[in-house]
Amino acid sequence: MRLILLGPPGAGKGTQASGIVKKYNIPHISTGDIFRKNIKEGTELGKKAKEYIDKGLLVPDDIVVAIVKDRLTESDCKDGFLLDGFPRTVAQADALETELKNLNMQLDKVINIEVDKEALIERAVGRRICKECGATYHIKFNPPKQEGICDICGGELYQRKDDTVETVTKRIEVYLEQTKPLIDYYKDKGILANIDGMQDIDKVFEDIVSALGSGK
Ligand SMILES: [Zn+2]
Repeated sequence: MRLILLGPPGAGKGTQASGIVKKYNIPHISTGDIFRKNIKEGTELGKKAKEYIDKGLLVPDDIVVAIVKDRLTESDCKDGFLLDGFPRTVAQADALETELKNLNMQLDKVINIEVDKEALIERAVGRRICKECGATYHIKFNPPKQEGICDICGGELYQRKDDTVETVTKRIEVYLEQTKPLIDYYKDKGILANIDGMQDIDKVFEDIVSALGSGK
């Protein structure tokens, strides 16, 4: 199963990704992770990528694509993979298709977790985190027994600085704007599966599994 996972920040992508890789026994390829790994190991590509990151610039497509391609040729990707965080643009999607063709591979599905913008904002803005143990709460959906205090350890709860209405809205709008052409691209190819991410976590996963069918 060769998959791409799309979804805005805060849509519960991480949880679904772990479920998918476990069920289908495929590696989870997060571009963030493989970037960090290449940089840490000081590979040629890692060094190049670091130059851009250090300057606060976006890593150019050719380097991103080369790093992903490298990863896809590792033996654990033989029977499939779940790509997360890549591609981000149509140009990257085109490059990925070319690389996969060279490897005699084809994408099976692109899973797009859809979440309502207002709901994402509400989820993020209401999030509270324990300073001591890192447990997360939500003032509305999962409130602590006592306001501002962690149920588990009694630690103080805080709100992340970038969880304000303005930053969350901006984050989501940027994501939606960037991803729209990519979604259309895969829709045209007939491999897009839109999943309603507003449901219960388990139901979201169920829908993903049924969209993927029994195929390997
Ligand atoms: Zn705590």
